[in-house]
Amino acid sequence: MQAINLIFPELLNQPSRVVITTHQKPDGDAMGSSLGLYHFLLNFGHTVQVISPTSWANFIGWMPGCESVLDYEKETAKSDALIVEADWIFCLDFNTLVRTKKMEQSLASSNARRVLIDHHQQPQVEMFAYGVSDTSKSSTAEMVYDFIISSGRTDLIEQNIASCLYAGVMTDTGSFRFPSTSADVHRMVAVLKEKGLQHSIIHEHLFDNFSESRLRFIGNTLLNRMQVFYEYNTALIAIPQSDLIKYEIKTGDTEGLVNYPLSIEGIKFAAIIIDRGEERKCSFRSKGDFDVNTFARNHFDGGGHFNAAGGQSRDTLENVVSKFIKTLPEYRSMLTSYSF
Ligand code: 5GP
Ligand code: MN
Repeated sequence: MQAINLIFPELLNQPSRVVITTHQKPDGDAMGSSLGLYHFLLNFGHTVQVISPTSWANFIGWMPGCESVLDYEKETAKSDALIVEADWIFCLDFNTLVRTKKMEQSLASSNARRVLIDHHQQPQVEMFAYGVSDTSKSSTAEMVYDFIISSGRTDLIEQNIASCLYAGVMTDTGSFRFPSTSADVHRMVAVLKEKGLQHSIIHEHLFDNFSESRLRFIGNTLLNRMQVFYEYNTALIAIPQSDLIKYEIKTGDTEGLVNYPLSIEGIKFAAIIIDRGEERKCSFRSKGDFDVNTFARNHFDGGGHFNAAGGQSRDTLENVVSKFIKTLPEYRSMLTSYSF
């Protein structure tokens, strides 16, 4: 993988066919960074198409440009044709092609030059011609901002780009609270504000846009589905599929639930396991020096970041829960010593 800046001479001067893609079930950063780059690249006469491997949550739909995004699972033939014809494929907020699910084969076999912009650990570097991978970055949105700055075309940042990039960085920093929120992040937001960013509206779109039934689902989850293991400073939420049906829970409605247990005093490690029918999806979050990326890789076929990772299993919910509980003693000393 060569340095990303090498693509500027051609990318900024020669109109071409560009596909931008991201990980399955895109979150605020995945979609925000993709659409931020989309609006930027449109300025250069390119034909640009964002393709998401799957559908996305309703709370993301307000992002400018989202209405033009293709859902690969719904428009496979059209998406495959664009991938085959593309000159460039930008891969944002993921670093192993398997995270694009059914799109993996098309991406792998395309002759386009694949360009990586990502902040997760252990990138599959051999799959990308150019790219930047930096785990110290708060978000892929911040990295798209850096990319725009390096291109020398900061003048092209306008309200659409600012909204998308702000949504991305805000999502991935837990509203600017995680340790990855550097001085550079705040400087970036200052520049976005000067470009016309309206941040309050974005917070409303992302956090005050849910159904009554979702709020009642959260109430039920915290009351009846959470177990706290004080001897390991750990809490676990396990959600049966019947809850998702009863409360009409849609894609994205469970986003952020895993963070609730971390607000209990002393809890350092939180996990959620959701029975999604075809698989059991896990999310892990930690505070301080407990590495959930390694935990997810070792036990739940996943990965992510040091303090936020995910995984999955094909086993039953009951078995995944009992496997989780059985692994805790192995991490006892790490979980009971607490430092930031
Ligand atoms: P979430 O728990 O919100 O789904 O994901 C937390 C972080 O871990 C995100 O950065 C996400 O991209 C990453 N992640 C989630 N699931 C997986 C997985 O199955 N494999 C890998 N490698 N990363 C994951
Ligand atoms: Mn991200």
